[in-house]
Amino acid sequence: MLAEIKGINEECGVFGIWGHEKAAELTYYGLHSMQHRGQEGAGIVVSKDKELTGYKQLGLVNDVFKQVKFDDLNGKIALGHVRYATQGGKGLENVQPLLFQSLTSGMALAHNGNLMNATALREELEKEGSIFQTTSDTEVLAHLMKRSGEVTEATISEALNRVKGAYAYLILEDDTLYAALDPAGIRPLSIGRIGEAYVVASETCAFDQIGATFEREVLPGELIKINQDGLTSFRFAPRGKRQMCAMEYVYLSRPDSDLNYVNVHASRKRMGKELAKEAPVDADLVIGVPDSSISAAIGYAEESKLPYEMGIIKNRYVGRTFIQPSQELRELGVKMKLSPVRGIVEGKRVIMIDDSIVRGTTSRRIVIMLKDAGAKEVHVRIASPAITDPCYYGIDMSTKEELIGANNSIEEIGEIIGADSIAYLSEEGLENAIVKDKTINQGVCMACMTGLYPVAPADEKEMDISNC
Ligand code: SF4
Repeated sequence: MLAEIKGINEECGVFGIWGHEKAAELTYYGLHSMQHRGQEGAGIVVSKDKELTGYKQLGLVNDVFKQVKFDDLNGKIALGHVRYATQGGKGLENVQPLLFQSLTSGMALAHNGNLMNATALREELEKEGSIFQTTSDTEVLAHLMKRSGEVTEATISEALNRVKGAYAYLILEDDTLYAALDPAGIRPLSIGRIGEAYVVASETCAFDQIGATFEREVLPGELIKINQDGLTSFRFAPRGKRQMCAMEYVYLSRPDSDLNYVNVHASRKRMGKELAKEAPVDADLVIGVPDSSISAAIGYAEESKLPYEMGIIKNRYVGRTFIQPSQELRELGVKMKLSPVRGIVEGKRVIMIDDSIVRGTTSRRIVIMLKDAGAKEVHVRIASPAITDPCYYGIDMSTKEELIGANNSIEEIGEIIGADSIAYLSEEGLENAIVKDKTINQGVCMACMTGLYPVAPADEKEMDISNC
């Protein structure tokens, strides 16, 4: 489903490349393939002869760079970012990469995730005399690193040990590119190669886009350094159990991406299969809510030996800025984004697969829409457990008060959305669909569905959600 109607939003994608003649241009294509991770702003910084220059703007990648001549962004090392902004942080100053120039060097930073102790660290740094240019939590790391003057693997490691939360960082200092992942590996970050050049990206779909091959994952608590000596690995924290965000697989990432060696589409199919085993229902056909629920619907249909059909279509030309119908017209049934395929659902007992339910308003609208189109029964099956808790790790979702799963039983949710029956995938079912081998220190974060946080918020202040 479209991010803006689902109510769950990514917060950013990062891309870095070291050692390619067309570094900026390839970064543009890499960012374009990760546009779904952030639509508020985009930027690229390049390094040539240790001098850093960049361009960033609010808007979609295509719009931001349509007037830019890539020959002006000359250099073999580049860093890029797409941003989704939370409330209060939508200004151009917060668009990344953040670029810092001093008399002796330049440094750029791109971040995906959320620092839970950013406010406390910022207060501490301001007391010591630091002046911040942005309201972004990313800048906190820059000040921590620069405190001791030079930026090296030692000062980066020291700074990373002060921050708490989920993060995938790319840092460009002079002619060296660094990549770092938090000790629980909550956010995705992969390394690839294109010719002799190295690439690092939030999602592997960016590698396919530019013709790069996947090399390996950045490991939890690992700091990677790429320069003329090649790639060197450092450890800034003990390697903990990997707890990649389950929502990346359920909804956020592109189906063609592999996260932590697991393909997103294949994992969604397995979620559908697990769901069919756990919650079968007598029906005529299976449909999925486009786009992110299609894979799970195919899996459910395969397992239950029922036909998979395209019962709902999505209008691809409804952008963020499209004029939405007034409340009055909405009630009259003016639907902008999703439409039922009447010829498929009319007179049928339909199993409708959705990846998740946030507030329930969209699900209710879809059930009504299917019934209006003549569906005899609509059985809702959700390919993940109910969302009951907020995310503190960089995914923007509704507050606890707004989460339908936090305030209602499953039966009540079924009644609210008007389904003939409803079932969610179990926590175990979701974990089985994602984690290939639980014996090798692998797991997933499901905190928004279980309340069990891999990095626990210590106090109320840390629960403030900052920007990525
Ligand atoms: S709390 Fe939910 S959305 Fe946040 S990182 Fe964990 S699984 Fe992902």
